[in-house]
Amino acid sequence: MNYSGGYSRENNSYLLCNDEPLTTDKTHTSSCLTPIFKWLINPCNPHTALQSDLCFRLPVLQMIAAKIRDLLFPQSCLLCSNRQAGPIGICHSCLDDMPWHIDNVCPQCALPSVSNHLCGRCLQKPPAFDATLSLFQYQYPVSAMLQQYKYGQMLTLAQTWGEILAMRIGERVLPDRIIPMPLHKKRLQERGFNQSMEIARTLSRHLNVPLDISSCMRTRFTPPQASLPYKERIRNMHDAFSCEQNLQGLRIALLDDVMTTGASLNALAKTVKSAGASHVECWIIARTFTP
Ligand SMILES: [Zn+2]
Ligand SMILES: [Zn+2]
Repeated sequence: MNYSGGYSRENNSYLLCNDEPLTTDKTHTSSCLTPIFKWLINPCNPHTALQSDLCFRLPVLQMIAAKIRDLLFPQSCLLCSNRQAGPIGICHSCLDDMPWHIDNVCPQCALPSVSNHLCGRCLQKPPAFDATLSLFQYQYPVSAMLQQYKYGQMLTLAQTWGEILAMRIGERVLPDRIIPMPLHKKRLQERGFNQSMEIARTLSRHLNVPLDISSCMRTRFTPPQASLPYKERIRNMHDAFSCEQNLQGLRIALLDDVMTTGASLNALAKTVKSAGASHVECWIIARTFTP
């Protein structure tokens, strides 16, 4: 498996100051490109000279720009090195073989359920969120890719996840805002970037749904959920978030990379609902089946 790619420290500093959105590993060449080439690489980047409402008004231009970009800078598949990966970074054949989330799931928590009915857990103790959409099961190679993304600084994957999620959302009713899982600023300093926020950036651009990174904050620095047993995880999330804005009547999509017990997303959904949100969905890259 080829996990070539990644970003320089310079790019990580972009993330910390929320300056320039990430694109792909082609960013290494961007400093010496003229504005037109920067626009070809990322036509919706608000920092490029040719950015304008054209991105939304003339999707044909966007498509042409993407085609020219792929011709100039062909991208290899992250999994098999096939040079037909396109903007997603994964070729069709590898994409087909990914551990896609199963069809028969509980619509509220995305755990397996017969005929897509609500599962026993959600019936007995409904979570604060109303629905969950998961792209994949947390299995290889998705698990390894997420580890590389989060802990190996392989930030090109933010674009990959965002693009696939945008395709998967398809005709679903769109929310009013996308809120990525907030990181405590201490954790952000440790990691250098917020993995959910970077995926949400791509997604927001594709769906044309506003990205909200200011309403919700993580108020307590908590141990990583993965390091704790099930019951501890729920306790660990108590009062972990706050919401500074009125979200009255809004439909909100919460974005996170992995959902295990759902304790973090449940706590965030509770906070968002307390701020007035009428409907809260969880959009996640991978779901584990065994909490
Ligand atoms: Zn491939
Ligand atoms: Zn359920």
